[in-house]
Amino acid sequence: MVKYKERLEEQKVFIDGEWTTASKGDTYSIINPSTGKTFVECQKCDVEDTKRAIDAARDAFDNGPWPNMSIKERSEILYKVSDMVAKKTWDLSKMDACCNGVPVLQHIVTILDMSPNFKYVCTRAEDLAKPNRIYGEFPIDQIVLREQDGVVALITPWNVPFWQMALKLPAALISGNTVVFKPASQTPLSAIEIARMFERAGLPKGVFDVVTGPGSVVGAEMAKSEKVDHIAFTGETTTGKDIVKNAIGNLKKVTLELGGKSPNIIFDDFPVEEAARMAAMGVSLANGEECFAGTRVLVQDKIYKEVAKKTAEIYGSLNVGNALSLKTNIGPLVTEEQMNKVLGYIESGKEEGATLLCGGYRLKEEELKDGFFIAPTVFSDVRNDMKIAREEIFGPVISIIPFSTEEEAIKIANDTIYGLAGGVMTKDKERAIRVARRIKAGNIFVNTWHMTSSDMPFGGYKQSGWGRLASEEGIKEFTQIKSIYADWHGLTKWLMKAMLLH
Ligand code: NDP
Repeated sequence: MVKYKERLEEQKVFIDGEWTTASKGDTYSIINPSTGKTFVECQKCDVEDTKRAIDAARDAFDNGPWPNMSIKERSEILYKVSDMVAKKTWDLSKMDACCNGVPVLQHIVTILDMSPNFKYVCTRAEDLAKPNRIYGEFPIDQIVLREQDGVVALITPWNVPFWQMALKLPAALISGNTVVFKPASQTPLSAIEIARMFERAGLPKGVFDVVTGPGSVVGAEMAKSEKVDHIAFTGETTTGKDIVKNAIGNLKKVTLELGGKSPNIIFDDFPVEEAARMAAMGVSLANGEECFAGTRVLVQDKIYKEVAKKTAEIYGSLNVGNALSLKTNIGPLVTEEQMNKVLGYIESGKEEGATLLCGGYRLKEEELKDGFFIAPTVFSDVRNDMKIAREEIFGPVISIIPFSTEEEAIKIANDTIYGLAGGVMTKDKERAIRVARRIKAGNIFVNTWHMTSSDMPFGGYKQSGWGRLASEEGIKEFTQIKSIYADWHGLTKWLMKAMLLH
């Protein structure tokens, strides 16, 4: 077991360059889901605290140096933070694992996956910020500029906290926006740690503010505030809809990364063992609490029974344990509430007639008894109209659905309100691309899963979201476009004659 502190000291929030407490003195506890014990106390901020943070970011944008600094100057700060992240990867992973129960090794992988984004944005932003001269039909200078959005509010969920932050924050900052950040209540520590790093790196005050507290209070205020120009949110689709409603007051820009119910289509030219491993892998990151988990495994009828049996063997034998253990494949669910929600879905699967092949219950043996552990669960004979196939479970549950033809697989795959990811497992390259094109989703995995990187766009179709993060698209997401027309050749005089008739 990796050693880490049983309890951390009370955490503060970072507003206007100061470490401070919630103005009413309220705090809340985070329970380590592996042990069921309180791990840390954090500030329970309210509307007033949130307004203070937004005011600080507004002032830093309207009057501070950050928006007017060059990209090179801003890059120097992001590079320093990137180096600090590299040195602190273990610590960040441990603190996140104690907050959300995701195995510590998986935190390391997700930090290594998205931390390059701190440097990537620096290398790409310079080019994107260059004025783009457009040569049109008329003798007029046409220039397109990209500029900052202004004050950006970022809200993230609890499943892979550092990854969620690193997907958005560097892109928002490099273009000169100022940022108010609300991490999920269960997992604020990596965000607080990043604020410490930015402070040490010399970020001007107010440019990055971190507020902790209930989403329905702090997050809702960020969405409503007319001083915020852009809100970028990752979380449940229902919360995303609330954000849109709350954002209507000043019609702020909204970026949404929402839920998923991704189809993993396995064709019968795939070897059974490999197919079962891919099925299990698709739902193995972050205890299945992952937006683009391949939770609907569609298997072609010829290999269906064997793949289902083998998947249950593989998934059912994964190591369940404390998130700090290096042997753990599946940790506890993030909270008792989330565990009970997942158990509820398992009951509904049984009631609707799916066949339970493994798992399906809470684990209470020995050292697991105080945590929120569920045995990895596999259902076969799932129909796409069952609740377990339609709703996002966010836990270690795989639903296996049979299909016979390619056409039928595509129909089932697209029969969902979501469109975040999809997978095609086949040895036939032409079929892989054909099917990949027809799945209505933003990210497609062919003979793999869980691939993301700072140079590929990430986002969803349908009710999985609006906009794209990471890559050049992700940098553009935090800018707006200005078109400038400049007349140096007298065209306007000619126009005046035509329009004013003298
Ligand atoms: P929630 O939508 O409950 O919460 C996400 C964040 O929003 C949290 O910080 C939360 O704060 C905050 N929040 C809650 N209510 C409001 C509100 N009314 N206004 C503004 N902010 C609010 O999602 P979960 O944390 O439960 O995360 C799981 C969900 O996130 C899943 O649906 C999953 O698919 C989705 N997700 C999507 C990803 C993507 O990239 N598409 C990636 C990962 C997850 P608090 O914690 O205080 O409640």
